[in-house]
Amino acid sequence: MNEFIELSYDEWESTYKPRKNPVDPDASYDGYMFETYGSELEFIRTINPNHVWTLGDGDDGGMYIWNGYSIINRIGYFITAVPFEDDTTIQVLVSHNWYYCENCQEEMEDEDNLIRDAFQDIDLDKCPNCATPEELATAGFTQTKEGLWRV
Ligand SMILES: [Zn+2]
Repeated sequence: MNEFIELSYDEWESTYKPRKNPVDPDASYDGYMFETYGSELEFIRTINPNHVWTLGDGDDGGMYIWNGYSIINRIGYFITAVPFEDDTTIQVLVSHNWYYCENCQEEMEDEDNLIRDAFQDIDLDKCPNCATPEELATAGFTQTKEGLWRV
């Protein structure tokens, strides 16, 4: 039986205790992340596989950490002091979806794909930054001083 566990980044950090990257003190993710090439990858490959985690892009556009050494969609690796159990799949949500605007090449966080769905609905390759107020209204948004609201 393969058990599937979803964790937040904070839960993962406190449960499995990532170790600092000894090769690069300025590594991403508070010094925890390892690159997928060179001496950092060589170091990863010397570690017991049950302590290795892969950072990558999810199919939904979000970014995740999964347990184990993986090559597909990889962005980086982590090593934890606490090993994960065999026969488990652990998925850690690192960041939400991002929306990429074809029109102005802007990239923005798009939790739950609200922006993507709204603009797809009206068949418009734009984003809240470059759409006209009329287009925004058509997509169901209103712009206020506090930010963008879906109505
Ligand atoms: Zn745009």
